[in-house]
Formats: sequence, C-alpha cells, structure tokens
Amino acid sequence: MQILKDIEAIVGTKGILTGNDVANRKAGIWIDEGIKAKAIVRPKNTEELSKVLKICNEKKQPVVPHGGLTGLAEGAITLEGQIAISTERLNEIETIDTVGRTITLGAGVQLEKAQNKAEENNLMLAVDLGARGSCTIGGNISTNAGGNMVVKYGMTRDSVLGLEAVLADGRIVTSLNEMLKNNSGYDLKQLFIGTEGTLGFVTRAVLRLREKPKSTNTALLAVNSFTQVTQFLKHIDRGLGGNLSAFEVMWEDFYKQVTTEPALNSPPLSQGFPYYVLVESTGSNQQKDSEHFEELLEEALNLEIIEDAVVSKSDSDRSNLWAIRDDVEQHYQDGPVKMFDVSMPILSMEKYITDVHEKFSENWETYKCVVFGHLADGNLHVVSGVGSDDDESIRKMESCIYDPLKSIGGAVSAEHGIGLEKKDYLGISRTEIEIDIMRTLKKSLDPNNILNPGKVFD
Ligand SMILES: Cc1cc2nc3c(=O)[nH]c(=O)nc-3n(C[C@H](O)[C@H](O)[C@H](O)COP(=O)(O)OP(=O)(O)OC[C@H]3O[C@@H](n4cnc5c(N)ncnc54)[C@H](O)[C@@H]3O)c2cc1C
Repeated sequence: MQILKDIEAIVGTKGILTGNDVANRKAGIWIDEGIKAKAIVRPKNTEELSKVLKICNEKKQPVVPHGGLTGLAEGAITLEGQIAISTERLNEIETIDTVGRTITLGAGVQLEKAQNKAEENNLMLAVDLGARGSCTIGGNISTNAGGNMVVKYGMTRDSVLGLEAVLADGRIVTSLNEMLKNNSGYDLKQLFIGTEGTLGFVTRAVLRLREKPKSTNTALLAVNSFTQVTQFLKHIDRGLGGNLSAFEVMWEDFYKQVTTEPALNSPPLSQGFPYYVLVESTGSNQQKDSEHFEELLEEALNLEIIEDAVVSKSDSDRSNLWAIRDDVEQHYQDGPVKMFDVSMPILSMEKYITDVHEKFSENWETYKCVVFGHLADGNLHVVSGVGSDDDESIRKMESCIYDPLKSIGGAVSAEHGIGLEKKDYLGISRTEIEIDIMRTLKKSLDPNNILNPGKVFD
C-alpha cells in the first residue's frame, strides 16, 4: 500500500507495524480482541509525526492516537481502514525544574514514571489514577483524567502549563509555557485537553509539580444518612483548611461486596451502615496533622455526623483502606456488568440514585446497581448488571443512568470522556449550540476529518 510505504520512508522500519504485529496487540486494557488497523505507526519525535500527518491529511487517511489504551470510553478504538499512531516512542522525560516546579516530557511517558521522577526530586505530580502503570501523559491530557486528588489539586487540566501538539495538516503548535500566569492571548492548550485526540495530537507537555506533602492522614468512616455525608464533607473540609485531598464514598452494597469473601479484604468497620467515607488529608507535619485530623473526627462523632471511624496508623493500614475502595473488580463476579461514570451537583445525588433504582426496577425484576465515587468532585460511578450484556440491555441500562441527568444538570461523563461509547448521549449534557461550536472547531482544525473521526460526536 503506497501510503504505508510513504510513512515507512519517514519513520523507518522500526516506526511501523503491520499484519500480525498489529492484530496481536490488545485493543484496550479490558478488551480481549486485537487491534484492527492498517498499521500502527510509532514516530520517534514531533517532526516525524508532523510529516506522517501531512501525508495522511493529503490522502484523507483517518488516524487514531494511541496512548496506554487504558481509556474507558472507547476513544482509542481503531477500525480496519484506519491507522493507529502510538506515542510509545515519544517517551522521554526531558527536564525537571525544581524551582519553577515543572516537568517537561513526551506524551508517551507513563504516568507512574513521571510521578516517580517528581518524587525523586521531593516533588509531586498531582495526577493519580488506578491505571498509573499503563496510562500515558498524552492520554491523561487528551481525556483530562480525574482520579484520586481532584478535590485538592483539580483535574489533569489544572496540572498542564503548556504543551506541543501536531494539527491534522502537520503544523506543529509549540506552546510549551512554563509559567502559572500567561494571559498573552488565547490559551490554546485548552483546545487539546479533554478533546480526545479529535483536534490535535499531543506530543510533549510541561506539567506543574507541587511540593511533596510531608504528612498523610487517612480514615474510613461509617455514616447513617446522605445528609450526614454532606455535613461531614463540610465539617472536615472547613476544619482541614484546604488540606482535604480525597473524599471517596461507598454506598452500603458496594462496601458489603468488597468486604465479603471471596473478596480478600475483611471489613474494618461493621457492614450495614448506609454509607462509608474514605477521607484523606495531606499536610506538612505528621504529628500535628494527625492530632488535628483525629480531633476533627472526634468532633464529628460527638456531633453525631458520623457513627464510627477507623484511622490508619501506618502505610500498610492506609493501603488496606484504599484497597477496599479500589477493589471494583469484586462487582464483576455475578455476571456481566457495566461501569458508568457520571457527575452532578452533590445535593442532587441522593434523589438521582433513588430515581435510577426506580427505573431499573421498572425494567428488571432483579438487577445490580452499586454506587461509589469521588463524591466531593460530584463524581459517581455506578456498576450495573441485569444478567445480560446484549445491545438492548446495554441501551436500556444507559437510558436508566443517563436520562435522569438531564433535569439536574448532570454530565454523562465525569472523567472518562465521550469516545464512541457516549456520543449518542452528549446532548443530555450539552446544548445544541455547545455541540455546534465543538463541530465548528473540529471543521476549522481538521477539515478532512482525519483525526480520531467519529469520536465525541459524528
Ligand atoms: C484500572 C483503571 C483505573 C482508572 N481510573 C481512572 C480514574 O480514576 N480517573 C480517570 O479519569 N480515568 C481513569 N481510568 C481511565 C484511563 O486510565 C484514563 O482515561 C487515561 O487518561 C487514559 O490514558 P491512556 O494513555 O491509556 O489513553 P488511551 O486509552 O490510549 O487514549 C484515550 C484517548 O486519548 C486519545 N489520545 C491518547 N494519547 C493521545 C495523544 N498523545 N494526543 C491526542 N490524543 C491522544 C486517544 O485517541 C483516546 O481518545 C482508569 C482506567 C483503568 C484501566
């Protein structure tokens, strides 16, 4: 095929995979099928990628950016006639500035590698998620990933100071700003953050680092009502004065399953409370911060906002508490399930979950619908199962989860993106005019629709 020969002339034989080398690679971390694509192209620098995209644009050849393939919205799914372009060779950490607290690196660097580099320099990259060992900085930027510390440090967007991206026609936008403040005209990097590779291909980035916290305090709490969960959120956030770094909530049935055999974790607090909160703070003095953290929990117990608490006393206690929250796979034991990622105002959550249960019970006699999430960020995950994962069941579940979001101003994607999976539902969360502006941007930056076509919207 001529286009593959032209691309090989740019990237060399090491830079292009075809045939079984493509099919033998899994299409995603939780997808058993192999990648379907004409080829996987692996440029080793921005200039190579620029030349490749120029050719693809001239030939109207669709391409799909590939990072670590851990995305959960089918954003990196590739069709047979398409070409996947992987960032796996754009994987260098270029510089770290310990005074300005920035790291400059290639889009293909794994998140964990960037975190470790920051840590070696007594700094912290405030982006963290379960897929840290496989996902890439380019993927994190393109999905505007959320994760575990959003309540304190914001989403990936809040850690991106600058970036470099290649446009569909091969032009390179180098916008590697290192400052916190830069109002010199439009903030163009935002075009490439959270746009899932549809407006440009991210090749390099400058990320903001923070001073590494010197203390961490973690506790698991049992709470009797949703109102008390919200009272506790305000109590602890006010009391910690900006140091609240995680506020994760598990509904009763989520907690029961992850603390009952065959799950490996035993329950640190007895089962049967309606809500469990995993709360964490970071600060600067372990002894003083621990005392203050425990005082705040004691106050909450005395005020009867919380019913019971277990406080971590060591790193292994902390990992054990997080292991409960992270053991989502336990919910995959009883047949096929689908995990939903939605967001809404915190005050709408209780009624929303009641409405979702009502809708499920109207459709199925028995079903699974367990809830947990980064509650302080307005983000809930719902693991749902109805005994079958055929297309009709999935559609019906999607309608039960997404339709009630419209009236409460909720979002069909909190942190995973839209990809292919949610594009039919984008209109629930975005107005026609908003989607029209998205299309205008797409047409002006990628008139031939070659960059990740069909993702986010048609
Ligand atoms: C166990 C597990 C836990 C997770 N936890 C979280 C979580 O807490 N929060 C969260 O937000 N997500 C989470 N995720 C989802 C996923 O890890 C994130 O979406 C992540 O940011 C994807 O990065 P990636 O490198 O794997 O991207 P990929 O899956 O390869 O791609 C994702 C999207 O970005 C595009 N893309 C990739 N690289 C580039 C680039 N350089 N330029 C332009 N476009 C690009 C792709 O085309 C695709 O549309 C989790 C996933 C797993 C498996």
